[in-house]
Amino acid sequence: MSHELTRDKAFFAFSRELEPQLRVALGEEVRMTTHDCFSGQLKTTADTLATLDWSITNPATGPVYIEGTKPGDILRIDLHEVRPLGPSVMIAVPEVGALGHLITQEETAILDTRDDTVVFKDKVVVPQRPMLGVIGVAPAEGEVPNSTPGVHGGNMDCTLITSGTKLYLTVGVEGALFGCGDMHAAMGDGEVVVCGAETPGEVRFTPDVVDIPGLPTPFIETSDLVAVVAAAESTDAAYKMALDMMHGFLTRVAGLPVNDAAMLMSLVGDLRFCQVVDPLVTVRFEFPKKVLAAYGYSLPA
Ligand code: CA
Ligand code: ZN
Repeated sequence: MSHELTRDKAFFAFSRELEPQLRVALGEEVRMTTHDCFSGQLKTTADTLATLDWSITNPATGPVYIEGTKPGDILRIDLHEVRPLGPSVMIAVPEVGALGHLITQEETAILDTRDDTVVFKDKVVVPQRPMLGVIGVAPAEGEVPNSTPGVHGGNMDCTLITSGTKLYLTVGVEGALFGCGDMHAAMGDGEVVVCGAETPGEVRFTPDVVDIPGLPTPFIETSDLVAVVAAAESTDAAYKMALDMMHGFLTRVAGLPVNDAAMLMSLVGDLRFCQVVDPLVTVRFEFPKKVLAAYGYSLPA
């Protein structure tokens, strides 16, 4: 059985109070469309933040109630497809993002997004590297605006979250209340000007629950690596959290000796910025799956 949800069914903060827009069982595929992070309000270069309705920025399509999930479960989202529909939009705004102190003139750029490329001002053609900026579940308590990342996922802006990736999140409330949006057709690590190529898109995924006691989340699995994502107020706090999360995974879940895990993290692991411009920054630590195999560990299929 396959389900569809369109982007007019959107929310702006992850919360247990949200009304489910779709109910699916574990193992059932969902296809949804997503708005760009401005809900499509910036259509031409003449559209600027002056006229933007901020209350409808960072929409996530959903929430999807995933039957059979309860607090504490590890929800695995198998992302089959993350496909930009284009066009994309970017902005540069004084005092916004990590470069705002250098920008004096606000600008909106529209980027042609098709045939697997993104075209910047008819000068630069870059390959698409589609990703979902916002993806998560309702937190156990309170609400988290979609602008903000956290242990529930949210605005992680992690370039690994793309077609073929498996994202593991800890369920906070019954039914998980999953949602996603903020697709980027391309984005560099750091997202320094405050956006990637912000595009509407289409997402296909299947939710499942896996039994991996102690798995630190948000946790990411691609064809060749695993990664953890940490959100904090400073990059220092975030990278330390990411290191602890990965070392915890390697020792307590994958069974590596403490020193082996530490030395291998230093030998073949990569510490990377996701973004440094959201209300909390996100940092990830990547580690090759091949090394897990050498220690006889593999994630459940
Ligand atoms: Ca984002
Ligand atoms: Zn975005």
